[in-house]
Amino acid sequence: MSFRFLHTTKLLKHENPLGLPKQSKNLPIKQRIANVNNIILVSSAKGGVGKSTVSINTALALNHLGKRSGILDADIFGPSIPKLMNLKGESRLSNTGKLLPMSNYGIQSMSMGYLVGDSQPIVWRGLMVMKALQQLLFDVEWAPLDYLVIDMPPGTGDTQLSIGQLLKIDGAIIVSTPQDIAMIDAVKGIVMFNKVNIPIIGLVENMSYFKCPNCNHESHIFKPGNLRMEKYGLETVASIPLNEEICLQSDKGKPVLVSKPDSEISKPYLEIARSIINFKK
Ligand code: ADP
Repeated sequence: MSFRFLHTTKLLKHENPLGLPKQSKNLPIKQRIANVNNIILVSSAKGGVGKSTVSINTALALNHLGKRSGILDADIFGPSIPKLMNLKGESRLSNTGKLLPMSNYGIQSMSMGYLVGDSQPIVWRGLMVMKALQQLLFDVEWAPLDYLVIDMPPGTGDTQLSIGQLLKIDGAIIVSTPQDIAMIDAVKGIVMFNKVNIPIIGLVENMSYFKCPNCNHESHIFKPGNLRMEKYGLETVASIPLNEEICLQSDKGKPVLVSKPDSEISKPYLEIARSIINFKK
């Protein structure tokens, strides 16, 4: 398999797979990321519910509200952030041998897509994935950040659990669509976060309703899911409609917070950013 850029080979030199100090019960000690004040996870237990779209627009919304923000794409197998950031090419190395984030639209970003060609399928087994993840988490030289938003891979597997165990997380946003089938998986994500002591800021209900562009009628295609979250003590921090512009602008690499920051459609993402800023741990 040929890679355009394979910093990950360096990680093979480590004897300890994750190369991290151990605490009791063989669990790694939770660490901070250098230069990052707050680490926020954006997670969905299911794929395709709009998690990356929420992640990027939230990072941009934090920047819009005056916070220094960055985004880390932790989806090793299906990185979406390079396309959403309209960035191509390879991440460079700093003088100290760390990966330098790539920037656009006023925010910094790092993704597996900057290390491996974007047309390359990644066919790694667990250990390689863990090493790549470790590099994305700890070998990036971020310029000082108030908030780093981590776009989590979907599911509740090894990668998600490792991030929860390796990093000291300040809060998590759970993204779901309102159907039962997505909410059931969202609950699994919540249970996992509770197990690894990650504070949950709240739920984002994506594709929550459809507003007709002709008559402005709001159609709640799926029944609202927020009521079902009450038993977990979770607040719905924003409801985002199913909206053509969100998809079109993302496909062009210009998320709505870049192309239409002051429009109605950007408001829910700004609400998410405000709930992150106001979150008391
Ligand atoms: P995930 O990260 O959960 O796999 P994505 O963020 O990649 O999901 O979104 C999947 C698709 O849905 C993308 O084409 C995206 O543009 C689109 N999408 C996300 N949120 C919305 C929305 N509220 N309205 C319309 N399209 C959306």
